[in-house]
Amino acid sequence: MKTIKDKHLFLWLIIIVILISPLIYYFTGIGQAASNLPAEITRLPGGTLANSPKAEALHSLSLPIGLERMLIYPLLLLAFQLSGMGIALRNHLETQIHPRLSNRLPWLVQLTGRAGRWLPPSWRKRLPGRDLLVIALFILTFNLGIYLLYLPFNFYRGFVLMHQFGLSTQTVPGWFSDWGKNVLIGLVIEGSLWTGFFALMRLLPRRWPVLAGGLLVATSFVLVLLTPILITPLFYTVQPLEDANLRTRILNIAERAGMPVEEVYVIDASAKTTQVNAYVTGFGRAQRIVLFDTLLAGYTPDEVEVVLAHELGHWYYRHVLLGLLAMGAIGWLGLFALRWLLNRTWQGLGLRNPTDVAGLPFILATIAVVSMLSLPVQNAFSRYGENQADTFALTVSQKPAAFIQLFTHLAEQNLTIVNPPAWEKLVFYTHPPATERIRRAEHTLQAQTDENKKGPVN
Ligand SMILES: [Zn+2]
Repeated sequence: MKTIKDKHLFLWLIIIVILISPLIYYFTGIGQAASNLPAEITRLPGGTLANSPKAEALHSLSLPIGLERMLIYPLLLLAFQLSGMGIALRNHLETQIHPRLSNRLPWLVQLTGRAGRWLPPSWRKRLPGRDLLVIALFILTFNLGIYLLYLPFNFYRGFVLMHQFGLSTQTVPGWFSDWGKNVLIGLVIEGSLWTGFFALMRLLPRRWPVLAGGLLVATSFVLVLLTPILITPLFYTVQPLEDANLRTRILNIAERAGMPVEEVYVIDASAKTTQVNAYVTGFGRAQRIVLFDTLLAGYTPDEVEVVLAHELGHWYYRHVLLGLLAMGAIGWLGLFALRWLLNRTWQGLGLRNPTDVAGLPFILATIAVVSMLSLPVQNAFSRYGENQADTFALTVSQKPAAFIQLFTHLAEQNLTIVNPPAWEKLVFYTHPPATERIRRAEHTLQAQTDENKKGPVN
């Protein structure tokens, strides 16, 4: 009895940390004092920007929250696997849940059996309908468990903290409705992707990375194309930009850059947040620019134009497509590495074979650790792309003063840290810090002034 307890001790410890940590963050009292703090960014005598006290306070909570999420999550998955819970869950589903399902929902069992009929007989033997059902049940149960375990943590981070700092406009039911939608969408997507993944591993025990890699790339392309059409409207009202003046400005810039932009979209982000943002999604003819309505409400037409010019930069350089291709290529190679790893670890983990679904937590932990370690590289590429888009924005808009005003305004409204320490920028920053972006615009402004001073040549 004692050995079982010891095996589970670490797992319980991590579960307790995840459940208790929001309370600890809450009882620091930092969030409660936030509403009295000024959010203005000041300029130090040397010209460098200083973070607002409110942004500093938010950062003193969001940094540990971010670190906790990044470090504790892979530990949770590993502890779950190493304590034997993965195998226990698979056994429970096989011996308890599957027979009960066969009695109560015979159509479900028949359906998985019937799906197998299309497969050649040799494949049917490798993946009987019962196993397919257990795989799907394992993935759904495990993922649902993670969502529920992280519910208090995410409620604190996404609702309590955001309200304390005046960044959220959501009601409690509104937040929970979004959470529920996210869980459902996540379960459908993760459920089908991982079930397909384990099914492929069973059907092609040696060559699965070849086909799985192809399907991974194809699925991410389809998801990027379908998200703005099917998923964004579940959370926001999406409308074409109505402001005729702004539309004309942006279509002019696009035309000057030779880009086929026909429409700009606006989402009603103000129903959930006071934060401001914009993004480009899709690729090819399905590329689209999306603006938060909070941007249109509080910013000057020149500032909005700079934002749009920046987004056009992402469009012009095809960042979404390039990102997809890069991630697809890395993911494809990663699958071969995963096969190598599973072939060497399955026995040590007590799995039946490398394709055992009970090894899912270990696979997820591996992915989490690899993506954590590669964050500095991923972020460096992302910041490179953002710099390209900023240069594009400054060149096509020719409005460096509006650019400086915009990024000061954005940092104040979103409570961002303008001057992060180097290591934090390396690990967490997908965008250059505001100070760097503003400095670039100041150089452009300086160059413009110098140019004007020279006057006409002749
Ligand atoms: Zn950008």
